[in-house]
Amino acid sequence: MPQAQLLRGGPMAEALRADIAALAARRAQAGHQPRMAVVVASADPASSSYAQAKAKTAAKLGIALDAVAVDPAEGQSAFEARVAGLSADPAVHGIVLDLPVDPILDAEPAIARLDPRKDVDGLTALNLGLIAMGREAGALGPATPLACIRLAEAMGPLSGRKVTVVGRGRTVGRGLIPMLINRDATVTVCHSRTADLAGATRNADVLFVAAGLPRLIGAAQVAPGQVVIDAGISFLEGKMVGDVDQAAVAQVVAAITPVPGGVGPLTSTLIFANLLRAMDLQGLGEPQA
Ligand code: NAP
Repeated sequence: MPQAQLLRGGPMAEALRADIAALAARRAQAGHQPRMAVVVASADPASSSYAQAKAKTAAKLGIALDAVAVDPAEGQSAFEARVAGLSADPAVHGIVLDLPVDPILDAEPAIARLDPRKDVDGLTALNLGLIAMGREAGALGPATPLACIRLAEAMGPLSGRKVTVVGRGRTVGRGLIPMLINRDATVTVCHSRTADLAGATRNADVLFVAAGLPRLIGAAQVAPGQVVIDAGISFLEGKMVGDVDQAAVAQVVAAITPVPGGVGPLTSTLIFANLLRAMDLQGLGEPQA
């Protein structure tokens, strides 16, 4: 039985981390200690565990990280005011708004209060708009789609390739789809109303999956030779799983990202690369020679 090559995010992230740490140290020496705020407005333990994981990575990189807990009971206005306050604070260079927020809050008006130059997760209308316009070089791109693309490109350029994206969600698909178009891929998008999911997924050279539904993609939805990038994160019986039935699909395709250990570790490092780019946009980058 063939067994797919595993596309691990860890080694790629490690290679990036050395550069990020060196750049962060230079910024700190120049009097600009890189600082990121992570806003958690949810009682879901997964949210605080993601914030803790970011704090651990930040410490290794010499980046200051403030975990900002917002009590949903304080209401929508207080939530938005916290985000606006961080946007206005010159000591904070990047802001992550952990999604989803508590169901009694609406994330979108808070995202609208986020300074796009501090939007290290690429969620604001300006950053997504620049990407959709094909002006990605001027945007802060969302970290998860960036990680998905880098992992896929480890198997070759995307230009001219048939790619299928399953999921048009706020954190992954909406950014990923235009970013793939910008890389000259031929893109098919699937969602909950797609009539023939297997037809669309089997037809791709590269398949990106970001629906948040465990085992949505099994052996019947893939084809030999494909590269499969699984961005999904769910928890089944206490174990983290993606959207792809890894054991079955790995028997068919050429390469696949594991969950955990694929998209996740690279995403959590790219967010800090974005923080340093955000500092450039705020005029706090390296002096030009
Ligand atoms: P989301 O907003 O929850 O949207 C889910 C998408 O999946 C929607 O577009 C939905 O279609 C589609 N979908 C639902 N059922 C489907 C079906 N049966 N067939 C095809 N498509 C279906 O998604 P998101 O926020 O972008 O997150 C997607 C996943 O990525 C989640 O598991 C999330 O935890 C994960 N994630 C991972 C990372 C990482 O670092 N690895 C980072 C962020 C998020 P409709 O649009 O029609 O509703």
